[in-house]
Amino acid sequence: MADPVDNITLRLGDLITPKTSDAPVAAVVRPSAPEQREEDNLIKSTHTVQVKLADQQADPNSPLYSVKSFEQLGLSPEILKGLYAMNFSKPSKIQERALPLLISNPPRNMIGQSQSGTGKTAAFVLAMLVRLNVGLNVPQAICLAPSRELARQIMDVIENMCQFTNITTKLVVKDSLKRNEPVQAQIVVGTPGTVAEVIKRRQLPVQAVKIFVLDEADNMLDQDGLGDQSIRIKNMLKGNPQIVLFSATFPEHVRNFAARFAPEANEISLKREDLSVDAIKQFYMDCDSEEHKYETLCNIYDLLTVSQSIIFCKRRDSADEISRRMKEQGHSVVSLHGKMLPEERDQVMDDFRSGKFKVLITTNVLARGIDVSQVSLVINYDLPLDQRGQVDFEAYLHRIGRTGRFGRTGISIILVDNRKSWEQMQEIEKHFERNIALVPTDDWQAVEKQFKEFI
Ligand code: ADP
Ligand code: MG
Repeated sequence: MADPVDNITLRLGDLITPKTSDAPVAAVVRPSAPEQREEDNLIKSTHTVQVKLADQQADPNSPLYSVKSFEQLGLSPEILKGLYAMNFSKPSKIQERALPLLISNPPRNMIGQSQSGTGKTAAFVLAMLVRLNVGLNVPQAICLAPSRELARQIMDVIENMCQFTNITTKLVVKDSLKRNEPVQAQIVVGTPGTVAEVIKRRQLPVQAVKIFVLDEADNMLDQDGLGDQSIRIKNMLKGNPQIVLFSATFPEHVRNFAARFAPEANEISLKREDLSVDAIKQFYMDCDSEEHKYETLCNIYDLLTVSQSIIFCKRRDSADEISRRMKEQGHSVVSLHGKMLPEERDQVMDDFRSGKFKVLITTNVLARGIDVSQVSLVINYDLPLDQRGQVDFEAYLHRIGRTGRFGRTGISIILVDNRKSWEQMQEIEKHFERNIALVPTDDWQAVEKQFKEFI
């Protein structure tokens, strides 16, 4: 019998272009490897797929749809140039709908919701840019995010958009400032703890701040620490800055609080959260034991070719342990969690973004916001649970939303290994009213077939 590995190499990863192209491409496929069969429907030319994104952006039911162009949204020529350099040719629905409200006068607060991967970042970043008085060299816009990695990512987007302007920016996360270094930049992005501290120490003047943005706002307002710090920062701001909250999810229990945090806000909700998973096909695998679960995980990487993927675990030490074992077996993996030093975290994230490592093993710290377009697979090694041990549906939705970004398709797999996790998987099915399909752990040809049906 032929080596099974040869027969069933699924080029899942080839769904996505390598890093070199930041083009607005939905699901680009690299030219096929020689062994790839001709009828393989995973293979499409870049051209076809670009057309596909254009199609999606022309479909009124798509979250990527808009009737307007960026030129019609009141942006300066320099910022338009930045957008085109990023290969943004048309706004997405949330960008088109939120931006006019965000930049109208007098400023109104905003609570914006739209599914993961639909371009919320550009919506609030453009609002910050439009609000700036460019002649005034003090902080005027503050954006907070729940993780260092997300704050860095938002900063990258801002710097790209501002590349043809003289706008100044500063990242304020742990260790990004020298001791007593004053923050004078016009735009500040950071994490709540560090920003609160720096304001308190009077390194960051806030008198001129006119727009205050919380990305992943439901998470920021819900978590004890982050919420308290975000409130403290808001209370330190003078006047009545415009408050802008964005997320893919606003569960009931934070909605009221969000409405008080951002009073009289314009609210935009593009789709109910349960519809936000349609570009991502969800599967589960039924494992007999914890050890079988680990073996199945390794088999996924041995037997399928995945471009980049993220594995979510419950705990920091399990992330480290899986990473150590997989490395020993020759897999190109790296782990990231909150116990690591800031510079280690930055290095790991940069290496993952550059494609140096294909598999990132992490915890909920990266469940939200992280945008690496080549990620075509998300594995829930452990399901996310809240403090009461119940399934955390929002965290689950955000985790799987690390794939299927801006018109791409993605796959998620839950590894079930006991009755409890099986029941939790079923709760997720029920909650989102979406089928989670079983794929076998002993017939990889069947797995390949099932994945391809979706792709
Ligand atoms: P969200 O915050 O809604 O989850 P992001 O803001 O991270 O989504 O955007 C997802 C991806 O879509 C990013 O890679 C971003 O560069 C891309 N993107 C956003 N807006 C556009 C646009 N108008 N045209 C092309 N690509 C875009
Ligand atoms: Mg986001």
